[in-house]
Amino acid sequence: MTAKSATATTRSTVYGHPRQGPGRELKKAVEGYWKGRVTADGLRATAAGLRRAAWLRLAAAGVDEVPTGDFSLYDHVLDTTVMVGAVPGRHRAAVAADPLDGYFAMARGTRDVAPLEMTKWFDTNYHYLVPELGPDTVFTSDAAKQVAELTEALALVPAARPVLVGPVTYLLLARPAPGAPAGFDPLTLLDRLLPVYGSVLADLRAAGAEWAQLDEPALVQDRTPAELEAARHAYQELGGRADRPKLLVASYFDRLGEALAVLAKAPVEGLAMDFTGPAAGNLEALAAVGGLPGRRLVAGVVDGRNVWVNDLDRSLSTLRALLGLAGRVDVSASCSLLHVPLDASAERDIEPRILRWLAFAAQKTAEIATLAKGLSHGAAAIGGELAANRAALASRAASPITRDPAVRSRAAAVTGADARRAQPYGERAAAQRDRLGLPVLPTTTVGSFPQTGELRAARADLRAGRIGTAGYEERVRAEIAAVVSFQEAAGLDVLVHGEPERDDMVRYFAERLTGYLATGQGWVQSYGTRYVRPPILAGDVSRPEPMTVRWTAYAQSLTDRPVKGVLTGPVTMLAWSFVRDDQPPGETARQVALALRDEVRDLEEAGTSVIQVDEPALRETLPLRAADRPGYLAWATEAFRLTTGGVRAATQVHTHMCYAEFGDIVQAIDDLDADVISLEAARSRMRVAHELAAHGYPREAGPGVYDIHSPRVPSAEEAADLLRTGLRAIPAERLWVNPDCGLKTRGWPEARASLENLVTAARAVRAELAAP
Ligand code: GLN
Ligand code: ZN
Repeated sequence: MTAKSATATTRSTVYGHPRQGPGRELKKAVEGYWKGRVTADGLRATAAGLRRAAWLRLAAAGVDEVPTGDFSLYDHVLDTTVMVGAVPGRHRAAVAADPLDGYFAMARGTRDVAPLEMTKWFDTNYHYLVPELGPDTVFTSDAAKQVAELTEALALVPAARPVLVGPVTYLLLARPAPGAPAGFDPLTLLDRLLPVYGSVLADLRAAGAEWAQLDEPALVQDRTPAELEAARHAYQELGGRADRPKLLVASYFDRLGEALAVLAKAPVEGLAMDFTGPAAGNLEALAAVGGLPGRRLVAGVVDGRNVWVNDLDRSLSTLRALLGLAGRVDVSASCSLLHVPLDASAERDIEPRILRWLAFAAQKTAEIATLAKGLSHGAAAIGGELAANRAALASRAASPITRDPAVRSRAAAVTGADARRAQPYGERAAAQRDRLGLPVLPTTTVGSFPQTGELRAARADLRAGRIGTAGYEERVRAEIAAVVSFQEAAGLDVLVHGEPERDDMVRYFAERLTGYLATGQGWVQSYGTRYVRPPILAGDVSRPEPMTVRWTAYAQSLTDRPVKGVLTGPVTMLAWSFVRDDQPPGETARQVALALRDEVRDLEEAGTSVIQVDEPALRETLPLRAADRPGYLAWATEAFRLTTGGVRAATQVHTHMCYAEFGDIVQAIDDLDADVISLEAARSRMRVAHELAAHGYPREAGPGVYDIHSPRVPSAEEAADLLRTGLRAIPAERLWVNPDCGLKTRGWPEARASLENLVTAARAVRAELAAP
């Protein structure tokens, strides 16, 4: 133990760091390894170099205790699966033959073996690999990665703390393995798992860990009494072991709620808690349980999920209020810095006056160190930093970018009627039937057609200046013409232009709306080696000029069949961006909705009879706590209706969502009041159709009959079978025929064949319906 940690001086720390490196070196090394261009040793050396650089960067920025074990070649939940020996049976041979290749086989699958399923890490855009556990799962401890990384760090910096996914969260994130009995609950494996965690902790202690952090973000969700009891039991057991480091149990993304009382009583030496956003209530709750006398509290006061500078004065006052509630108070970000880009100072195209409002991982690290210093030595010790911070916040608050009076007065004038179609659905449906003249079981697609190599090359040529805008647009038009003529030949009823002009469904619109910033280097890990650059919703939103009308109108000029205009909806425009933190998200969503409403109006004016507003993110941003959901769904559905509510009765509004499990938001989907909804359903054999029917969903729906996540071409017979299953839930007059989602990731040959089969299937089932 160092002398410093024996005193109550405030320390600064973080729970995790972006993994990719400043030039996305990790992505290049891992993908190079997959392609055989980088050796295993080369990959390991790159990874070790990135870890070392990250620790040194943190230490240089003034972070007193660095995290270890948070680094991953693919995903930290998969690393935990390896640590506890829960390798699924189908991957065991590969892991035994070569642990590294076996690891990637679990992540990505092989020709013969399916990967682990991937899903979202709580309400972030990070995806983890879902553990598969069954009654036969045997856990064995493998602390090698954790111990090695701790040892590496301790050779470089004075204090390091291993970070592990906690045992309760690990089990709550798991799914029953294929073949497990129905209703199997992975949490029943807790007593088998705890000794393995005990052994890993003992190994870490032996390797020099003074503290170890166990992350339990699952405890910020609504938990049953049995789950809370499991948490109590887990920390009673782990805390009771003699051969362990001090334990810091961490939670983030929301408030702890009922789990706080459980953890506060557990025999562990510290808690790390989130005090930002919806978790701010943790402060009062902590006081209410009597605080953590004599113990360590790590206070997450710097938001680890957004990109805005911290309000240092406000954070200091939170920290001061916490001082009396624990033996010592340390400062951190609210969660791992994995969810933000690396360094705002790498941005070349953002104006300096705006750049000072932004804080990525590097800037957040500095804020944390500053706050720790201010808490230890008083505000005077950080006077320069506080003055600069106040100036940055004041310039943001006063900027015309942040407050556009025209946008504000328009948003303030919105009435309930604006967010409502003028006619009830029955009237609209009749008007649309007359105008569109579609057959029963109309066929359509979700919007995008394959993004070909030529399209990507055209975009690269445009960026590099090899072609001008006119040349690029010529190529886009040629693609639209090809997509339209294919759809006509295939016999689809409602056509699309294919979205060839969009490389990304959010970025395309963000680049055309005022109020959004684009980053050059703002990469954030989505999963494995996939990184995205979310746009930043920085200011008031407006639409200087139409964004899609040209392309849709061009497609419509080529055909007599209706061409559907396709837009990204307001909720998704927020969900896949970094959103401003100086006003409630509902207000931002309303501004985006009004800008999109203008686009909808212009599409309608240009003669578009069918307009689709995609909301694939509606469910994923559902708040973690049930109590917060009605408020979210109210603004989210209002924003959608504000986007679409201004159209005439005969204009058909579609929406699209790509998930098969939506039981908890079916009422919200109904509240969108869209005339038609398309949904993913092929893999679940039309389950959503039955869920819609059970809810009494009154409008039209297209549960997907073609699984676009797979290169497999469904036969016409297979698609017809799915349609017949759909017809048992939804009457023929209200059933649409479409794929699960857009086709942009598919190749032309399989998309072509699949859509032809889809049309054949629709025609066959129509004939059956027409037969007496
Ligand atoms: N219209 C979009 C497309 O077809 C929808 C994508 C999505 O749902 N994620 O690509
Ligand atoms: Zn989709």
